[in-house]
Amino acid sequence: MKSLSVNNPVNSIRIIAPDSRSIDLQFKESGSVIKRRHFDAFLFDLVKELPNIHVFKDTQINKVEVRQRSVKVQADDGRELQSQIVVGCDGSQSRVRRLLHGSGIDREFHAGGVRAYFKQVKDVEQNRIEFIFIKDLLPFYLWIFPLHDRLVNVGLGMLSEQLSEKRISLRNALPDLIEREPHLKERFSNAVRLSEIEGCGLPLAGREKPISGHRLMLCGDAASLIDPLSGEGIGQAMISGRYAAWHAIKCFEKRDFSAQMMRGYDRMVYEKLKREQKKHLLIRKLIGKRLWLINAAVRSGLSSQTLLGILRKTVW
Ligand SMILES: Cc1cc2nc3c(=O)[nH]c(=O)nc-3n(C[C@H](O)[C@H](O)[C@H](O)COP(=O)(O)OP(=O)(O)OC[C@H]3O[C@@H](n4cnc5c(N)ncnc54)[C@H](O)[C@@H]3O)c2cc1C
Repeated sequence: MKSLSVNNPVNSIRIIAPDSRSIDLQFKESGSVIKRRHFDAFLFDLVKELPNIHVFKDTQINKVEVRQRSVKVQADDGRELQSQIVVGCDGSQSRVRRLLHGSGIDREFHAGGVRAYFKQVKDVEQNRIEFIFIKDLLPFYLWIFPLHDRLVNVGLGMLSEQLSEKRISLRNALPDLIEREPHLKERFSNAVRLSEIEGCGLPLAGREKPISGHRLMLCGDAASLIDPLSGEGIGQAMISGRYAAWHAIKCFEKRDFSAQMMRGYDRMVYEKLKREQKKHLLIRKLIGKRLWLINAAVRSGLSSQTLLGILRKTVW
């Protein structure tokens, strides 16, 4: 098994309230911070060594057509592939999802996220990630994640409804907030940004829409499985990918690729993720735009071990 030598283990989270008070919570298990480029390369190296895998690098899929007896996929180089089944793991702009749900986005369950890498940010603990709640971003936040090479991943997310209502560009919001928020300004006074500010849409979980149909299944962002509170979706993408593979095996064994057969996949995925998604959606709705609630939760957690325990259990 290949190892991720560039991984930075983290075991605690600092939550910084809008009034600048902060609280540290320990994880039950340690987590990992790693540059996306390294993580994807690690996964890709594992996959390409498996037997019966054909990789078409730098190939864009332009068209997916599900027919009664097969699926046809057309690439930008003119190549056409025929198969029994298609598994759409093609992210937030998924072409495969469009076959099920059309091209619109569900604004109530959609957010935007951006991220950049910095060096020389002050007061960063190597084993601690930070969520910084700021009025304009609520119920989302700005994050600071330490990487193994002493760089930090800094980013923020915001609900799409708020973005369009306030006509905000997230790419501008990141430097603006760093410049405007006093404690960020101080911490970033010597910081150097080492990358472009990159981002994309985050299709959030919360509405249990079908994630399969005749001869097709959706995984990860294509299936809108991103956690509605934290904005994380890598774990859900991996879980749903595994379930889709198991389910595809069943379909081949039974030679049944019908929409009804595929529904077993929806049940497996939602059964696994539903409880946590519901809890996190509830917390998100509770937070809403209530600055005082985060301030009060952090203040109470600081003064009471019991409340600290509840806070920890509520989030994880
Ligand atoms: C700024 C930001 C920060 C984030 N931070 C975190 C985090 O810290 N932790 C976490 O868990 N999640 C995080 N997320 C969410 C996470 O990135 C996604 O949930 C996760 O990547 C979903 O994986 P996926 O495989 O479904 O989609 P993706 O990772 O988007 O992969 C989709 C793939 O499909 C390819 N593709 C798309 N269309 C086509 C096409 N037509 N033809 C060929 N290929 C195509 C794309 O090139 C891409 O390789 C973050 C998201 C953003 C925007």
